[in-house]
This record gives sequence, structure tokens and C-alpha cells, in this order.
Amino acid sequence: MKIHEYQAKGLFETFGIPITPGNVASTPTQARTIAESLGLPVVIKAQVHVGGRGKAGGVKLVDDIEQIAPTTEQILGLTIKDLPVRIVLLTQAVNIATEVYLSILIDRGTREIIFIGCADGGVDIEETAKTNPEKIVRLACLVNELHDLPRAKALPFAKKLFPDASQAEQAAAIMSRMARLFVEKDCALIEINPLIVDDAGKVIALDAKVLLDDNALFRHPELETLRDMDAEDPDELKAKAVGLSFIRLEGRIGCMVNGAGLAMATMDTIKHFGGEPANFLDVGGSSDPKKVVAAFQTILKDPEVKVILINIFGGITRCDDIARGILTSLDELEVNVPIIIRLIGTNQAEGQALLEGTELLTADTLEEGATKAAEIGGVV
Ligand code: GDP
Ligand code: MN
Repeated sequence: MKIHEYQAKGLFETFGIPITPGNVASTPTQARTIAESLGLPVVIKAQVHVGGRGKAGGVKLVDDIEQIAPTTEQILGLTIKDLPVRIVLLTQAVNIATEVYLSILIDRGTREIIFIGCADGGVDIEETAKTNPEKIVRLACLVNELHDLPRAKALPFAKKLFPDASQAEQAAAIMSRMARLFVEKDCALIEINPLIVDDAGKVIALDAKVLLDDNALFRHPELETLRDMDAEDPDELKAKAVGLSFIRLEGRIGCMVNGAGLAMATMDTIKHFGGEPANFLDVGGSSDPKKVVAAFQTILKDPEVKVILINIFGGITRCDDIARGILTSLDELEVNVPIIIRLIGTNQAEGQALLEGTELLTADTLEEGATKAAEIGGVV
């Protein structure tokens, strides 16, 4: 789950990572009041879930109080990479002596939690990684080091980013706080770009990006409230509410599968035979016919879907319950695309008997189902 910069900075404050004072506004008048209390100059920053806001005109330095309201109005009128700006963060502006990149994340390749740093911060880090890979430095951490990152481990890394001894000490302390925030709140990423040094030699996080691990959110109800509904796919949220795992994808073959592993295997098989899945959808281990109806509704909302492949391997899930759900769906919903079904496992014979006489295309194996789906759904 993505959260906004101002929310991430709230977490930074709690964990002792230095930030500049600031506050959020959703109207020009509010913004002016905040600017008056912060003192000028201030930076007004669009709060949207994308990077590169600066380049898109979403970050503005203002040193005239009369310009606060009009500049805020202008930023609130922006849509950055399809996301409307509804709130801005105003922060006390600082003079920047040095800009550095610093993040902590899970490196899936090496299966480690690593810090990534680059002495050239502020800019597009992906670009630097391509053009000057030698400028990117890494530090792998053990999971049990994260609660209390040893100074002896952080400092040599911090020195690569900040040659000045005092600044390196500050950066090492920031790393230790990032590590603790990362593990205590189950983050997937914490990125500070730029981490800056001000005129007085103080190291401060000027930007903040935090990604939270969705699968661990149940442990942090206080973080779930930070979710920005504007930035979420409404169909994915609805599916979640009825107990389905649904993720929209680009293809034309709608998938309905029981179990996440089988759903992944189904998608791989579809791709193998030249098709593209329109979604990932796991109806879960139970066999509530209502879930099947909800799954149909979710899949059919996507106008790109040309065919639906249902792949059920009945264990706890009973094939007859799935079949009942399908019959109800055909009854209640307007299903105007072909459906291919592979239905095997518990109560298979009962399930198949229920579906007899319908227009469903059947497949005995996943390969057969995926091949048919790819033929009908075609390649995108
Ligand atoms: P992003 O473009 O979405 O990554 O937004 P940032 O928060 O990183 O801001 C973009 C750029 O604006 C930064 O890299 C800084 O160069 C600049 N900036 C942001 N805050 C300040 C500030 O207080 N003072 C100065 N001088 N520049 C700032
Ligand atoms: Mn940034």
C-alpha cells in the first residue's frame, strides 16, 4: 500500500527521522494560514502517489505570502500521471547544500533487506543506476539487526554518502531509525530522495516515500486508515470486501480460480499458449456460491474481457457449489462472453451434472482450457 509524503513524514517524526516542519491543506485559504505560521519561504507540494512531482509542476517554492493562495490553487488543479491533486503539503523551505539518495527495501534477487545509497541524490535514481552504476552503494542487513542497527555497520556505509564526519554520524543514526521503522511497521520500501544537508550542516529528509506490505496490514490497523481511496482501484477494493483476491491485468482472458497458487499456474499456462490474462482472481478455499457470483460481476465489469476461463480444483471447495454459483450467475447476470470451465475434484460428477445443458465449454485439462481461451481471447 502506498501512502502520501505527509503521512510518511508523520511516521518519520514518530521514529525520530528529522524532517522540516509542515502541514497539509486542501484549500488556498488553509494554505495561507499554514504558510503564515510556518514563516516564508515555504515549499508547496502536491500529495499524490507518484514520483517526479517536481518535474510535473507539483512542487513550488514560494517566498511571497500573496502567492501562497494562487500557487496552491494552481497545484490543486493539477492531475499528475492521472491522479488528481486534492491536498498539498506546505513545508518550511531549506537551503540545500547536498542532496543524497537513501532507501531501505527488500531485494528479491538476493533475498535480503538492503540499504541503497547514492551520493548524487534528488535526481532519478533509476537513471543513475543505468548510466553510472558504480555510484550506487548497497548494504545488506540481517533481519534481526533491524530493530537496533549496529552503528559500526551503518557508519562505514553512511561515510560513502557523506564524507563529512558529523554528517555521516547523523546519516548513520537516520539509517538505524529507518531500519526500525521498516521492521516495526512491516514496510516494503522506505525511500528518502533527497536526504539533504542544510546550511547549518544538519541532515534532513526532504521527501519521504513509504510502501507498506499489504499482507501485514492486519497487524497495523492504524496504518490501514492511511489508505487513499482515490488512488485504489474500486473494483479491487470491492472484491476484497467480499473475500476475493482480485488484481486487474492487461489481457482479455478473465480468470476465476480457487487458490492463489493455482491462479498463478493458470495465468502462466494461459501465457504459455499465447493468451494474456485480464486478471488474477482467487475465489478462495471455501465454496460459497455467492463468491462465484461476485467473481463474475468483477470480471465482467472489464470491457476488455473476451472469454472467461474457470479453473477449479476441488478440495475443500466443492465442485457442485461452484456449479451452483455459476448457474445463479448465468441467471442473474448478463454473461455475454464464452465461458470455458475445467471443474475437477470434490463432487466433480455432481458439479458437472448441474452444468449439463448450459452453453459452457468444458475442458478436461488446464492445457486444453488455456489453449481454447487463448484461441478465443487472442493475443493483445
Ligand atoms: P518529487 O519530485 O516527487 O521527488 O518531490 P521532492 O519532494 O523530492 O521535491 C522535488 C525537488 O524539489 C527536490 O529534489 C528539491 O530539489 C526541491 N525541494 C523540495 N523542497 C525543497 C526545499 O525546502 N528547498 C529547496 N531549495 N528545494 C526543495
Ligand atoms: Mn523526491
